[in-house]
Order: sequence, then C-alpha cells, then structure tokens
Amino acid sequence: MTTTEPTAPPTAADLEAEASALDAADPLRHHRDAFVGAETSLVYFDGNSLGRPPRASVERLAAFARDEWGGRLIRGWDESWMQLPFTIGDTIGRAVIGAAPGQTVVGDSTTVLLYKLVRAAFDARNAADPARVEIVVDRDNFPTDRYLVDGIARERGGVVRWIDVDLDAGVTEDSLRAAVGPATAVVLLSHVAYRSGYLADAAAFTAIAHDAGALVVWDLCHSAGSVPVLADEWGFDLAVGCTYKYLNGGPGSPAFAYVATRHQDALAQPIQGWMGTADVFAMGPEYRPAEGMRRFLSGTPPIVGMIAMQDTLALIEDAGIDAIRAKSVALTGFAVHAADELLAPLGVTVASPRDAGARGGHVTLSHPAMRAVTARLWSEDVIPDYRDPDGLRIGLSPLSTSFAETLAGMRAVRAAVADLA
Ligand SMILES: *Cc1c(COP(=O)(O)O)cnc(C)c1O
Repeated sequence: MTTTEPTAPPTAADLEAEASALDAADPLRHHRDAFVGAETSLVYFDGNSLGRPPRASVERLAAFARDEWGGRLIRGWDESWMQLPFTIGDTIGRAVIGAAPGQTVVGDSTTVLLYKLVRAAFDARNAADPARVEIVVDRDNFPTDRYLVDGIARERGGVVRWIDVDLDAGVTEDSLRAAVGPATAVVLLSHVAYRSGYLADAAAFTAIAHDAGALVVWDLCHSAGSVPVLADEWGFDLAVGCTYKYLNGGPGSPAFAYVATRHQDALAQPIQGWMGTADVFAMGPEYRPAEGMRRFLSGTPPIVGMIAMQDTLALIEDAGIDAIRAKSVALTGFAVHAADELLAPLGVTVASPRDAGARGGHVTLSHPAMRAVTARLWSEDVIPDYRDPDGLRIGLSPLSTSFAETLAGMRAVRAAVADLA
C-alpha cells in the first residue's frame, strides 16, 4: 500500500455518470421532447407550479382560435363546448384521479371550487347534525385553503379547528385523529404539502375522518398528474385539483372538482348560477340545480382555458400514472442525493421527507440565502421557486424533466449558494 489517502468523496463525475445512467434507463425519456423549450439549456424546476407547454398545445390553441372559435362561432356551444367541462373532467377522472365517469368536472379556479365544495359539505353535515360546527384544516395548508375556510366559518357560524404541523413534513395520522370528533363537519387537507412535498396517506386519512362522521375535501393541486390518486377506491367524498401545475393547462387554466356520486344530489353549492341549472336555456324564474356534476358549475365555463390540458392528459394516459410516479420518485431521489453530495457541505439541508413513500414530486432545500439564490438562478435561466422560510423548491415534473437537467440545476444551485452565502 503506497497510498494513505482516505476514500475519495463522490466526485462531480460520479453524479454525471449516475444522471446519464438514469436518463438512459428512463422509459419516459422521449416524452421530454414533446415540450416547448426541451431543446434549450434552460433548467426548469417549477413544473409543480406552472408546467411547460406541450408543443401540441401550441398547435391546438391556434387551431381552436382559428377553426372552432373563428369558424363555428356561437354554434360551438351546442356542438361541443357545453359538454367539454364534463368530457375533460371524465378524462381527468380516468387518467389522473381514479374516478369513474360522471364525478369530475372542470370549472372555476381551485380557490372558487374549494369554496363551493367546502361550504356545501359544511352545510350538509351541519344540517344533518347541528353539533357539527368545525372545519378542520392544518396551519401549513396552502394559504388559499386556510383563508377560505376561515371565511366560510365566519359566514356560517362555524369554527376552524387548526392542526399544528412540522413544516418539513405534514399532517400525521395521530394529529388528524386528535382533531376530529363529534363536532367536525368537514376536513380540508392537501394530498401533497405545497412547501415540504410531504405526501399524506389519503386513504387512511379519509377513513379517520369518516370514522368521526365528517366529510373530507382533498386538495390535489400538488399531486394530480404526478402522484397516483384513487379517489373512488380510497372513499373520497370531494376533491379539487389544479390543472396548470402537472397537467400543463397553462397560466390560470381552470381547476377540476370531484364529487362522489353518492353525494352529488344531496349537496347545494353556494354560487347558484344559470350554468348549474337543470335546463340551462329554459331561463326559468328560479334556480333549480341540475342533477349530477352540472350543479357544481355556476357561470359560463372557461373553454379557452381548458383546451391545452387535453394534450398532457393524453400524454399521461399514454405513459400511465404509475410509470410517471416511478420516474418522479427517481427524480426526487436523485435530487436529494445530489443535494447531499453538492450542497450539504455548504450548510444546505433537505426540508422534505427523505422516505420516497412520504414524498410527492418536489424537494425543498433550506438555507438562509435561498431567496437571493432564487433571484440569481432565475437570471441564469435556472428556474426553481422560493417559499418562506428559506426554502428553495425543486419541482421535477416527470414528463418534461431529465436527470441531466436536474444535475445541471443542482450544480447551479451550488454555485449560487457558494457565491451568496
Ligand atoms: C397551487 C395551489 C392552489 C392554487 O389555487 P388557485 O385558485 O388556482 O390560485 C391551491 N391549493 C394548493 C394546495 C395549491 O398548490
């Protein structure tokens, strides 16, 4: 033995070899080329916030404006647009959330749909049992969820019951069990926590709420299109999810709502508009809610906004949500590994679950310099996002992100932290 050197730490070359091996073995790698910008060196770490556009969507939007809006004009409503919220809803049900037809509709924004469903659920449980006055929500749920629950409680004489959570994780079974009981009307939970990426056990949590006699509304914004959801099998009551995140519907594309068949005709949503009535063009003297999912609509559906998501839904059906989840697990696992190798020596910590089974599609890295790091990276065409406190979110949209892209981004994070810390 002539060398006394300790085992060398993994080098940049090791990570590079690992990224190329992972890309070579990735059965979904060809899908990346279906997205605008795949040919550039830009690193996109924010597909969990605003997905990249599929190239096919650029064509689809242009064709829609030219041929359908331009050519069919008002006839378009009779010919297809009136049904589009339901046909796309059923596709989301089939490809993304495990829902049989007739339970999913594309409608308003996530915020508005959550408001409609949480209020409908609160009113239904409270009317059946006036002792049920509480809405359970966690303190780290997405701001819009917390704000609208607070507003509904005030409007309806209810009470918000807050669950405290660890910011690097999320709601636990024990904390949920302790929060629900005979006073609970409805529980609102996120399937994947927007900050930490923590993945809730939606089947187990639903059962806990049901055992307490409550209804559950699931916010699927950060799971739809990246983590399998089995709404029917897991006994969901109600759910809402974003379409501009992993479904690549484009900025402000409308959200979807799921209402289990058994609840549909018993729920009254609060925005009674003409598009939710039984016979829309009867224009009758008073509101009579339609049967089925139509009653959850209010006004004219945002057709232009729901055009693009159809391309990603087709991609998801083609790839299969289980294969997408497998790639997502591999991507976030690689990002955690790269963070340990490249960033831990600079004091950066992983603020997401290390257990892949408890993690959704993004990884949050924590360091006091992350706000400045994010601003610097954006100017270099490396695009993560920043969430207080000190969190850099690495969103890895499985269909449009490669392992090489992930490594390039992690190296850029390292350089920025080294400069700015
Ligand atoms: C993105 C997101 C929303 C967004 O609601 P909008 O009404 O579309 O602005 C809501 N909830 C969660 C958990 C989200 O991640």
